[in-house]
Amino acid sequence: HRDAGEPIDETELAIEGALRPTSLAEFVGQQKVRGQLQLLLDAARIQQRPADHILLSGPPGLGKTTLAMIVAHESDRPLRLSSGPAIQHAGDLAALLSSLTPGEVLFIDEVHRMARSAEEMLYLAMEDFRIDIMVGKGAGATSIPLDLAPFTLVGATTRSGLLPNPLRDRFGFTAHLEFYDAAELEQVIARSAARLGVEMPARARAEIARRSRGTPRIANRLLRRVRDYLVVHGDGTAADIATVDRALDLYDVDAIGLDRLDRAVLDALVRRFRGGPVGLGTLSVAVGEEAETIESVVEPYLVRIGFMGRTPRGRVATPEAYAHLGVAHPDGAFT
Ligand code: ADP
Repeated sequence: HRDAGEPIDETELAIEGALRPTSLAEFVGQQKVRGQLQLLLDAARIQQRPADHILLSGPPGLGKTTLAMIVAHESDRPLRLSSGPAIQHAGDLAALLSSLTPGEVLFIDEVHRMARSAEEMLYLAMEDFRIDIMVGKGAGATSIPLDLAPFTLVGATTRSGLLPNPLRDRFGFTAHLEFYDAAELEQVIARSAARLGVEMPARARAEIARRSRGTPRIANRLLRRVRDYLVVHGDGTAADIATVDRALDLYDVDAIGLDRLDRAVLDALVRRFRGGPVGLGTLSVAVGEEAETIESVVEPYLVRIGFMGRTPRGRVATPEAYAHLGVAHPDGAFT
């Protein structure tokens, strides 16, 4: 399964944790979302109630988990972390919800992957802070109502379109996180480099930013790889462009930050399907990756940088995609 910069092991996870901003003020970019969240938290604080439920959508690594942690931190509430795939039955959710303390922030990552029966239980819980627990089977089955402590749900999803409407409607606030621009990524890198005690000249920061696929998690990861490279091949402090290039070439990121799966999708689209249009299912089989991953992780970035278009008849490659792969465009000369 595609990682999009997911931490690979415990040490990486710990470093990622250490690099997380803990306040909205420290959170780079996403200015509009930050302002909206600030208002939401301020209002809740003044009225001394838990904040409204929050839905965060967007590709992996853009800061959804970080924002959930910030919501808990800024409102001085405990945080509970869970995820859709861990909630297989309504019972799993009942156990989780009934153990929340008043005002707790509950983060459910990949909320679109929860069991259907749990989803229905969640509707009532979000609205009335109450659930009905079914006891027994068949004719003797009864439901026992259970009051819950009021809580704030922060749901994260890579595609809010995958959420059933009744669930989406129960969030008081919905935000879509966008890819970060180069200046914002440079800011993330500068902040992380300072924390890691690595000296990064501005040009090196810009080079890492350019290859980070618009994603802070990837920026942080590439920064750590450059640091590793410096520890082994240099004096571990100053990095110049050549060093950054050599370090990053070792990993499968190309000059504009596309990784192996991005390139596989582009390659199939351009070479195998002659630029499209091709359906998502066909594309997914061609590269051997789940359609959901392609749709929620790969495509948003390729569309954002203008390499891919989505039409009613399927996905198409743009002339820019041909140029990047070094393939002549059928409509004319090599661009
Ligand atoms: P998601 O939950 O969307 O997959 P995370 O919140 O886990 O993403 O973010 C991944 C990493 O990227 C975190 O370790 C965090 O340090 C960094 N990060 C994400 N967004 C920002 C941001 N806006 N400013 C600074 N660092 C960020």
